[in-house]
Amino acid sequence: MNAFQNALKQLKIAADAMSLDAAVLEILKNPERVVEVSLPMRMDDGSLKIFTGYRVQHSNARGPYKGGLRYHPKVDLNELRALALWMTMKCAVVGIPMGGAKGGITVDPKKLSAGELERLTRSFTRAMKDVFGPERDVPAPDVNTTPKIMAWIMDEYSKIVGQPAPAVITGKPIAIGGSAGREAATGQGAFYVLEELVKKLKIQPQKTTVAIQGFGNVGYHMAELMHKAGYKIIALSDSQGGIVDLRRRGMDPKNVMEQKHSRGLIGNMYCIGSVCDGTNYKAVANGKLLEIPCDILIPAALEHQITGKNAGRLKAKIVLELANGPTTPEADEKLKRKKIVVVPDILANAGGVTVSYFEWVQNKQGLYWSEAEVLKKLEPVMRQSFSAIWERHLKYKTTLRVAAFVLALERLRDSIQAKS
Ligand code: GLU
Repeated sequence: MNAFQNALKQLKIAADAMSLDAAVLEILKNPERVVEVSLPMRMDDGSLKIFTGYRVQHSNARGPYKGGLRYHPKVDLNELRALALWMTMKCAVVGIPMGGAKGGITVDPKKLSAGELERLTRSFTRAMKDVFGPERDVPAPDVNTTPKIMAWIMDEYSKIVGQPAPAVITGKPIAIGGSAGREAATGQGAFYVLEELVKKLKIQPQKTTVAIQGFGNVGYHMAELMHKAGYKIIALSDSQGGIVDLRRRGMDPKNVMEQKHSRGLIGNMYCIGSVCDGTNYKAVANGKLLEIPCDILIPAALEHQITGKNAGRLKAKIVLELANGPTTPEADEKLKRKKIVVVPDILANAGGVTVSYFEWVQNKQGLYWSEAEVLKKLEPVMRQSFSAIWERHLKYKTTLRVAAFVLALERLRDSIQAKS
């Protein structure tokens, strides 16, 4: 099954659980608009290369389309259709007045020079000038896209419309209208959710081991917050692989990040030259990291990591999804049978889009908040969303994922029906 089929399956399970109106379900099964653009670009060596860019707008029933842009060699329409649907659900889960979209370019940005990356981004923005817009569709960072890339998009779009248009995109650098707290927001939001879960399950951080797959912006900030709270981070990885702390005492993510920068690979951090400390640390491949005995497993990289094939081998008690779509429906079934609690992506990683929405609000009103003010607004959103989902999980006797979809679908149904 591809990612979009997985997303549709999740939608259907929740719709059945709550007996959702059939017309509402039909509307939400298909994206409202799919845009594909061809992007010819002059490379540094003078040759011409054609890239393909996309934007999938799933639903604007609750407000302007919202969702990130990813630059990755595996970006394709089925993946983006799924990611756009999840954005609609995510925005509805946290109750923000925005819809769902996702886009990107099929490219490995690590193979482009800084100049090529800028030209490609600006050309993509020109191609999407009638698709994006502060009241229409507001993109943001996602896999491999940075505040700098957001700045180029804002700049190019502003030139086209002839006036500064900061609200066309979120996740910008603070100097040009970004929000304080946006970079750490996804991790911070997940941490509030975790605190609520910990209360329900009566977990003690000091006695809790954690494995994190993915050491980008989201994985790193979450690791930092958990380390500070006393959780033991016993395994960490990036796209090249990772490391396990065999003593299970816990690693300081800041230290791992420094080592990654100086040595290139996380898996090398326990080695000096060719001599490796194999007693205390071991390199681990990304797939194997998921199967490490630990209390909390955090997939924070790409979708489709926990599948029907490996779900049976997971040893964690909790899976906290910081990536979008890391667990397939087939795996969900297996995890449910194993009584592993899965905190779904559309709740766990919704702190990012919530602060994106705060950024958009600040841009529109031209009045900016401190980081403390942003966090003060984010915290109740995350805690209340968790409680609303927990209630539905008890009421419908379902997993937290189904409960989260039910909450989102209740809100989407109300918005759709109010207009029909
Ligand atoms: N890419 C992030 C996500 O998947 C953020 C989206 C946004 O801020 O619009 O939630």
